[in-house]
Amino acid sequence: MMKIFNPATEELIKEIQTDDKSSVQRAHEDLKKGQVEWAAESMSHRLACLRKFMVLLERDKSALGEILSNEVGKPVSQAIGEIGGAIGRISYFVDNFSEVLAPREAHVAPGLIEKVSYDPLGVIANISAWNYPYLVGVNVFVPALLAGNSVLYKPSEFSTLTGLEIERLLLEAGVPSNAFKCIVGTGQVGQVLLGLPLDGYFFTGSYKTGQYIYEQVAPKMVPCQMELGGKDPMFVSEKIQDVKGVAAVAVEGAFYNNGQSCCAVERIYVQESIADEFIAAFIAETKTLKVGDPTEDGIFFGPLSRSEQLDVLEQQVADALAQGAQLELGGKRMDGKGYYFEPTILTNVSHKMAVMKEESFGPVIGIQVVKDEAEAVRLMKDTKYGLTSAIYTTDQEEFEAIASQMNSGTVYWNCCDRVSPHVPWSGRGHSGFGSTLSEEGIKAFVRPKAWQMRTV
Ligand code: NDP
Repeated sequence: MMKIFNPATEELIKEIQTDDKSSVQRAHEDLKKGQVEWAAESMSHRLACLRKFMVLLERDKSALGEILSNEVGKPVSQAIGEIGGAIGRISYFVDNFSEVLAPREAHVAPGLIEKVSYDPLGVIANISAWNYPYLVGVNVFVPALLAGNSVLYKPSEFSTLTGLEIERLLLEAGVPSNAFKCIVGTGQVGQVLLGLPLDGYFFTGSYKTGQYIYEQVAPKMVPCQMELGGKDPMFVSEKIQDVKGVAAVAVEGAFYNNGQSCCAVERIYVQESIADEFIAAFIAETKTLKVGDPTEDGIFFGPLSRSEQLDVLEQQVADALAQGAQLELGGKRMDGKGYYFEPTILTNVSHKMAVMKEESFGPVIGIQVVKDEAEAVRLMKDTKYGLTSAIYTTDQEEFEAIASQMNSGTVYWNCCDRVSPHVPWSGRGHSGFGSTLSEEGIKAFVRPKAWQMRTV
């Protein structure tokens, strides 16, 4: 049995039966049979099921938002917003899938036709994170199912109830129960997947777990993708005109979902001549955002989803202060029930401090003043991660010069902390490898087959 707690109240929500080795093995056997039948269905049938899934998400959005908010602590409005975002992504997949995977003639010559078609991988593992369970989930299981794979889905133990809701709605939408199965439990249940002969492993989570899973899966010689964490930088050039406006956007980029986003702004570099104004505006904007009960209207900061992260954040703050950082706001966990941490702003920071080097994954930000573009580039690149980099400037040439030097999967100009289904979502270094979303994120779930045909 596994206990599920509400991170805002620390109350027990539910006790739930977990899977074990034999139930996971049975699920795999079912999915192997189911995959063959599901792949034999027409593409239009699979598309119709996923379209229905969108309708059902829309129908149940409010109730699903409450369930998600209860188990991870994000404000209900942000939870409902996440479901809306997931519907948008599914819509991209269903609109583009057939065209991306249409068989095509690659080369025709007298007596020769060369063609490409795509086969599903088979039964794939979708090991997922709790911070955006709908968004990171649909990135994987939607294209996987559309391509004719069956999916063994392991939500994080911290978003188990949402995982079960996703399964319920997919089945209601017509996806057979032997094409998609949600298994329940902690990382130990996830570990069972690593021992099974699955045909692909798609992981979203931390670098530490991702590295371990990659090592375990390597001998299987099957596709493996890793969407991992980040320490994403933002540069604010003195060329910007609306300093307050950029500061407000930076606050949202750093603190939306309590900073628990893989692509949250985790460190800011601001140019000297505008630094005082920017920092003052950043602090003022943060103070306008309310911390509290995530079920109440108007709350921006709920509790953290995991109590362990409170220690990580406190250690990062203590380390920064010990090395000369200045605490502008917050800095500690809050008294009372729930895993609340004060929105925290540190200045006078440096790259000797963990807060500028290690993923915080919470409402803590370091703002460092830089002399010029060259110093900003050097510091932005000083990281093991490589998910996104944001550059704020009115000068497109300046943006392009900096962006081309970034070793990250995404570069942003005058925006941040956003994911679009139209372009690949991919990390580099400790942020992982492989792509979800876009054409690349569709082709990740198939194997190409080359047809070389002599016609005489
Ligand atoms: P974890 O790495 O702790 O867990 C991720 C998943 O792996 C969970 O389902 C977890 O189960 C499971 N797991 C843990 N141990 C094992 C194991 N031995 N074998 C198989 N599965 C296992 O990450 P978090 O859930 O804490 O997610 C936060 C991290 O995810 C952050 O670093 C964040 O940046 C990153 N992330 C990256 C995204 C991207 O697109 N690049 C998107 C979203 C998040 P359980 O939770 O039950 O222990």
